[in-house]
Amino acid sequence: MIVILKQNPDKAQLDSLLEWLKAQNIEVHPTVGSHQTILGLIGDTSRVDVDLISALDIVDNVKRVQEPYKNANRKFHPDDTVVRVGDVEIGGGSLTLIAGPCSVESEEQIIGIAKAVKASGAQVLRGGAFKPRTSPYSFQGMQIDGIRLLLKAKEATGLPICTEIMDASQLPLFDDVDILQVGARNMQNFSLLKSLGKTRKPVLLKRGMACSYQDLLMSAEYILAGGNPNVILCERGIRTFETYTRKTLYLACIPSLKALSHLPVIIDPSHATGKSQLVPSMACAAAAAGADGLIIEVHNDPPHAKCDGPQSITPEAFDKLNRKLTAIRNAIRED
Ligand code: PEP
Ligand code: MN
Repeated sequence: MIVILKQNPDKAQLDSLLEWLKAQNIEVHPTVGSHQTILGLIGDTSRVDVDLISALDIVDNVKRVQEPYKNANRKFHPDDTVVRVGDVEIGGGSLTLIAGPCSVESEEQIIGIAKAVKASGAQVLRGGAFKPRTSPYSFQGMQIDGIRLLLKAKEATGLPICTEIMDASQLPLFDDVDILQVGARNMQNFSLLKSLGKTRKPVLLKRGMACSYQDLLMSAEYILAGGNPNVILCERGIRTFETYTRKTLYLACIPSLKALSHLPVIIDPSHATGKSQLVPSMACAAAAAGADGLIIEVHNDPPHAKCDGPQSITPEAFDKLNRKLTAIRNAIRED
């Protein structure tokens, strides 16, 4: 971090700034020029509050030269993180398929879809029980009954389950859930992130629809800094001026986030496009770009789905897609 001081800084204020930085184990290297003095700050500056320094009378400008996230940073953790969910490994070069309906609707529905996606090669079952809906009048999910049905589907198929948690108070209900999804709308629910940091459960963290990569990595940092290393990043499209697709899918996030961070990166082509006919091509593109996994909405009867039917593919389409994905993965394998 670099702190540029105003001309003729007040000595008492400067001394107190230097003292304060020293107390945080930051080494300060001053460069005194004829017009300006610049302080080079060396050490773990991720905990130094830029706004606090910028607000000082003696400070002209502050520039970060190092990313503000340390735990999520590839520089400090060169090896890929592999998140383990039972026998399933997410990250480190494999393509993990998470599939299932947007929301759990009935026992027959979730067990039927679970069996179908498993037969086609899915390794994790998804299904929303608590649904974050834009309208309070829309279906809010089966809630606790939805979790019970997911657990029945897990028992019937052996597939680990991934479902969304909306509030830290729900944690006791998620004891047997394998992957806790934090949805796009909750990516910056910092009290939820802090609570998840205290668990050791894998967390699938979706990028907020108006959040940058840095915002996403800072949210991951909350969970990692709490002591939970099991974070999976998920791109699900962001809001842009384009209205043809539901959101805009940023596939450049795969090489970008992988360069910035060691965490696994998975892609959600369903919420990103909002159109089932676009899902297979975007899933293939993500696999070709090196995604660690995909989360795909699959429904047995999309026109009658209670949530996100237009973007849900059928089990038959999922099966066809998986055969293509295997071919793509084999084609880009480096060994
Ligand atoms: C979902 O996975 O069904 C969901 C609501 O996702 P997102 O938070 O990305 O909208
Ligand atoms: Mn959905």
